[in-house]
Amino acid sequence: MSISENLADILARIAAARKAAIAPAPETKLVAVSKTVAEAGIREALAAGQRIFGENRVQEAQAKFPALKSEFPDLELHLIGPLQTNKVREAVALFDVIQTLDRERLADALAAERDKSSRCPRLFIQVNTGEEPQKAGVLPRDAAALIAYAREKNLPLVGLMCIPPAGDDAAPHFALLLKLAREHGLDNLSMGMSGDFELAVKFGATHVRVGSAIFGSRPQI
Ligand SMILES: *Cc1c(COP(=O)(O)O)cnc(C)c1O
Repeated sequence: MSISENLADILARIAAARKAAIAPAPETKLVAVSKTVAEAGIREALAAGQRIFGENRVQEAQAKFPALKSEFPDLELHLIGPLQTNKVREAVALFDVIQTLDRERLADALAAERDKSSRCPRLFIQVNTGEEPQKAGVLPRDAAALIAYAREKNLPLVGLMCIPPAGDDAAPHFALLLKLAREHGLDNLSMGMSGDFELAVKFGATHVRVGSAIFGSRPQI
């Protein structure tokens, strides 16, 4: 199937999952994850009407998106990979949304850059719901403190994001993220990927991040 056929199929599956869900979010947006995808593939998705894209690496996004963003002013770019503090300036300049705030030092750097540039992407806090030592994200028990910290700094915090451990049943992770978001009055939940986005929709996902089901499988790095 082509990229545009894949997109149509996924949008239909999101709509069906929303109908079957007991409490779907008011809206579920599709973030097309375009890491490792060349410009031609991204253009095919744009031609099909897709406007929200997710990238893992600041440098790769810088190489692909500035020109596309000026050509398509309504293109919305999300950073979904870990952010180093030494890349904050570039990330704030390029991304519309950063989904991976996970520590106070990064909140400090984002606030400093916001003060300097008068610009700040909307932010999600990444929660390491599986408490995996190698994975980015704040631990669930530390989420409340980081949420409070970001709010003290007047950062535009809009939601929570998680990546459940590979091979785990994702449902309890999605349920935990939903619970945390409700407890803290956050409206957006970024959860669900190619293999489990329909399940995430049932738990109230406002953003699903889908890569390989749109663009095909990625080369192993
Ligand atoms: C790569 C990636 C995705 C998309 O994964 P697929 O399984 O290809 O849909 C989603 N979220 C994050 C954080 C990713 O790194």
